[in-house]
Amino acid sequence: MDFLFTEDQQNIRDAILKLCSQYPDDYWLEQDQKAEFPEDFYRSLADAGWLGIAMPERFGGSGLGITEASIMMQAIAESGAGMSGASSVHINIFGLEPLILFGSEEQQQRAIPNIVAGADKACFAVTEPNVGLNTTQLKVRAERKDGGYLVNGEKIWISTAQVANKMLLLARTTPLDQIKRKTDGLSLFYTDFDRSKIETRLIHKMGRHAVDSNMLFIEDLWVPEADLIGEEGQGFKYILEGLNPERVLLAAEAIGLGRAAIKVDDRISISTVYRTVRLFEESGIIERHDFRDGRARYETSTEGKYLAGEFAFEACHTAMLSMGGMGYAQEYHVERYLRESLIPRTAPVSPHMILNFLAEKVLDLPKSY
Ligand SMILES: Cc1cc2nc3c(=O)[nH]c(=O)nc-3n(C[C@H](O)[C@H](O)[C@H](O)COP(=O)(O)OP(=O)(O)OC[C@H]3O[C@@H](n4cnc5c(N)ncnc54)[C@H](O)[C@@H]3O)c2cc1C
Repeated sequence: MDFLFTEDQQNIRDAILKLCSQYPDDYWLEQDQKAEFPEDFYRSLADAGWLGIAMPERFGGSGLGITEASIMMQAIAESGAGMSGASSVHINIFGLEPLILFGSEEQQQRAIPNIVAGADKACFAVTEPNVGLNTTQLKVRAERKDGGYLVNGEKIWISTAQVANKMLLLARTTPLDQIKRKTDGLSLFYTDFDRSKIETRLIHKMGRHAVDSNMLFIEDLWVPEADLIGEEGQGFKYILEGLNPERVLLAAEAIGLGRAAIKVDDRISISTVYRTVRLFEESGIIERHDFRDGRARYETSTEGKYLAGEFAFEACHTAMLSMGGMGYAQEYHVERYLRESLIPRTAPVSPHMILNFLAEKVLDLPKSY
């Protein structure tokens, strides 16, 4: 299946690449080495109105869809900004979709214009130690009190928590042994990141050092009732609305990263790389996402994330090998891309889990032999 950009979409891509050209590879290498959030890059995108690309127009956004947002994120990564550039704005783009779909008008008025303007930075706090991909088993507890909730527990791998002032938090409001269905009992909050109640401990990781990832130790964090999104206990359902677009965006970012790697050395014509790109393009992931719903949307976004993650890794790895020893030198940038390519390959769902899912639920293969 061919996927051609419309004129408007091509204009978005060109405008983003032009903006990103002010932030060349050396800028990203320096941010990576200093492990410093790319605040000036973030501000440039915010000031030019790009953070609101997919946000409703009544809140100052452009009201465009996942296709345009993906084109933008691919262009950011492809410019050489890689996952560092993409992750610095990733949450602004579609991360607050649950709030737009299920939050009250008052909550949206409070949150969205500030996200569009880049005045607020939000982190996305779902993953927990010892729970991982098994999201229905989350344990961080939000205990109901008069006028709000008292939150206690630990989260892990929470990106941008060092710089965020807001948090989209998934926490348990009904204990596991009191729920009927395993997807019940979790609630979603959009609330202040109160550093007096949250200890934020940096995880020293392999790449994308400009965008931090952290452990959170939450102790008696007060969350007012006004920060609960939708109905108590329905948070798991709400969060899925953000996770599917997130996978599509991540796929686009991975494709951008892979393309950046191929550009680094144009001697490369290794067929696996191009076969993988074609596979992705033929799957028409981004295009189909706009037209599908429910389960098909999950399969599509997950399958796209898988293919794109594999492509990014193959492209970066091949680019590095083709440069010989210098591929390993930081000044040629491809080693940074390779380190970053492991992120969309691994998170938020590993290739093994995706292949398991596709085998069982799409191809109807037996669970085991
Ligand atoms: C750089 C980075 C940034 C991140 N940012 C965020 C963030 O901002 N917010 C957030 O909430 N999370 C974030 N995450 C977390 C990410 O979403 C999780 O790492 C991911 O959900 C996997 O969870 P886990 O690490 O606990 O792995 P686990 O669930 O422990 O999985 C470990 C391994 O076991 C395998 N496995 C697990 N279950 C099964 C099974 N049933 N059958 C077969 N194999 C299985 C998996 O395939 C995987 O290989 C981030 C992670 C990274 C690396």
